Amino acid sequence: TDMTEPYRRVLLKVSGEALMGKGSFGIEPAMVDMIAADVAAVSKAGVQVSLVIGGGNIFRGVAAAAKGMDRAQGDYAGMLATVINALMLQNALERVDVDTRVMSAIQMSSIAEPYIRRRAVRHMEKGRVVIFAAGTGNPFFTTDTAAALRANEMECDALFKGTQVDGVYSADPRRDPNATRYDELSYMDVLSRDLNVMDAAAISLARENRLPIVVFNIHAPGAFEQVLRGEGRFTRIV
Ligand code: UDP
Repeated sequence: TDMTEPYRRVLLKVSGEALMGKGSFGIEPAMVDMIAADVAAVSKAGVQVSLVIGGGNIFRGVAAAAKGMDRAQGDYAGMLATVINALMLQNALERVDVDTRVMSAIQMSSIAEPYIRRRAVRHMEKGRVVIFAAGTGNPFFTTDTAAALRANEMECDALFKGTQVDGVYSADPRRDPNATRYDELSYMDVLSRDLNVMDAAAISLARENRLPIVVFNIHAPGAFEQVLRGEGRFTRIV
């Protein structure tokens, strides 16, 4: 299947939660391997792929702040959690023969390259998968915002958000049986209806640059590859 049309370069946001699999904390290696296989297939088909990885499976600044930790300090710890996830994912990708570079927004030169925009573009042009770690490098932001930021910087054709459900619903489908899934939404719909997709900063960044967001369920083998082909279930935000 030719997936190079219409997508030439994409960014996949993988939440930390996605790496937990059935667990409630940390990393489930089988889940990391499944995502790596999915990304490998897309990369080998010729689509330039970059990843932004979350850290919520290990540490969240907001949660730590609720228990009395300084918020900014907690956020830095959260950013470090994303680096742990990035190294796991890099290793899983290398085991399926995909050249991968981790670029960190917080300098950590012994284990990751510093984030340099033009170098990241070059890696992707050479067919390497780039994993953007440490979010934006700033506290009070999220990895969703980092995903929108990097996708804009990389001039990606779309931002794919791999979640636990197969798109954006009118209510939480796990709680409300009447919740309906949207096929397409506008950025303004998401903002004005306060739909729980990505934070407002991320949606606004995407909107300003007309970056399409595709929300899908990443918990099935080949889900990313399938959605890139326009198959399966997802919600497009344009
Ligand atoms: N974080 C941050 N700045 C960023 C990205 C992330 O401070 O630019 C911190 C923040 O504490 C956040 C944690 O890193 O809670 C993990 O990221 P996130 O919650 O976005 O991960 P996900 O929900 O995708 O697993």
